[in-house]
Amino acid sequence: MELTVRVDWRPDRNSELPVYRQIVEYVRGQIAAGQWSAGNRLPAQRELARLFGVNRSTVVAAMEELASYGLLESDHGGGTRVASDTWSLMVSDRTLGWNHYLEEGVFQANVPTIQLINKLEFEDTIRLGTGEPDPKLYPALQMKSVLEGLAGRLTSMGYLGPLGLPELRNALSKRLAVQGIEAPPSNILITSGSLQALQLISVCLLQPGSVVYAEQPSYLRSLRVFQSAGMDLKGISMDREGLRYWEMEEAGDRTRLLYTIPTFQNPTGALMSRERREGLLHFCREGRIPVIEDTAYSELWLEEEPPSSLKAMDKHGMVLQLGTVSKSLLPGLRIGWLIGPEPVVARLGDVKMQVDYGASSLSQWVLTEWLESGAYEEHLTGLRGEMRGRRDSALAVLEEHFADLADWEAPKGGFYIWVRFRRGISVEKLFHEAMEQRILLNPGGVYSAAPSRALRLSYAYEDPKTFRKAARILAGLARRQLTNSG
Ligand code: PMP
Repeated sequence: MELTVRVDWRPDRNSELPVYRQIVEYVRGQIAAGQWSAGNRLPAQRELARLFGVNRSTVVAAMEELASYGLLESDHGGGTRVASDTWSLMVSDRTLGWNHYLEEGVFQANVPTIQLINKLEFEDTIRLGTGEPDPKLYPALQMKSVLEGLAGRLTSMGYLGPLGLPELRNALSKRLAVQGIEAPPSNILITSGSLQALQLISVCLLQPGSVVYAEQPSYLRSLRVFQSAGMDLKGISMDREGLRYWEMEEAGDRTRLLYTIPTFQNPTGALMSRERREGLLHFCREGRIPVIEDTAYSELWLEEEPPSSLKAMDKHGMVLQLGTVSKSLLPGLRIGWLIGPEPVVARLGDVKMQVDYGASSLSQWVLTEWLESGAYEEHLTGLRGEMRGRRDSALAVLEEHFADLADWEAPKGGFYIWVRFRRGISVEKLFHEAMEQRILLNPGGVYSAAPSRALRLSYAYEDPKTFRKAARILAGLARRQLTNSG
């Protein structure tokens, strides 16, 4: 780790590129090529000036620029070392221009099944797959007292700075510290839902052709965010421990990154084990694959707390963590956040200002009050209890009516049960047949590039009685398919 890098290069005096810029590109290139890694020390500035054959002030200017990207940092002994070789590398890539994507208007239309679901959700249907807490669980009393508490505090409602409300970032920073994540407010960007964080990453940090690995199946596949920006989505299979990270293949000189939902994954509900998390981080570190960790469901454990997040285990600034209160509190607040190295957060914040000039100030204040007053923690405890009951009830219904039709695992948290039907049952057909009975489903194919015989069931949205009624009808439809196919 404490290795000092070797420098055997000199700027080209005949080049049109200024010497200082050549040094910046050289250092960036060494890091990009994997010659220099996070933690490696650089020779002292005086020594560097001698090796490069330039003035010390030229070295200082180049080092300052590299530090502003988050590629270099000062170490305690007054020297300089490589700080990060994943996300920061992307920020410093001068060939990237996000304007290009926005100008081209390349955003692709939604997956047709998703378009249909988005429409039918607001008609009179029973929603067996919806990833949202039951509106009947709306915490009306707590919200009333939160809003009352807030009323005396709200003295202004102007635009906010690029990273979002300082009070909210402070409150989140404290919460993260308890989870083992050291993230000062300057490392936190408030977004309009975590979906926006994905959008910002896709336009700011990645080039067309970049490879994005994700679990197969994954929530990411149901979106068009990364594909619209020209990225190549590659599904990686899972086993009982989680993502089989060793299946991420080399991709030549293309940029690679991993998007993962290690805790109560959408759509499978899977929980990645601690050992798998450790192995994954090590693998990504070696392969220099930056990681986006989506923690949308992490707070929703049912019996015991999940293993530490990847971000909490990350010593090298290679994990960008996304959080949201959409699943654990209220999706309508439209508040999420992103935690990452300061230069990355600043870059994304700058673009966010150009996109929407900040997430709703009112929503940010409301969430601050939820967090500071302790109401959020109290709400979570109640929600976990409610979800535990619903999961158990849903599992009992499945056992009773689906045992001969499908396989599934009991989730340890989150909202979903991933039901895999046996041969002879078409989930696409089931989707349409159920729709005629006004039951809305989320077929597995939406989350996967490969054909799927799975269904994402959610016990979060409908109450147990309604769930039971609809699930029984569903089992009848599935059984009929089997009978008809002989
Ligand atoms: N990530 C995951 C894994 C999700 O399931 C969802 C919502 N379905 C989101 C992100 C987006 O949530 P939001 O934009 O509401 O924060």
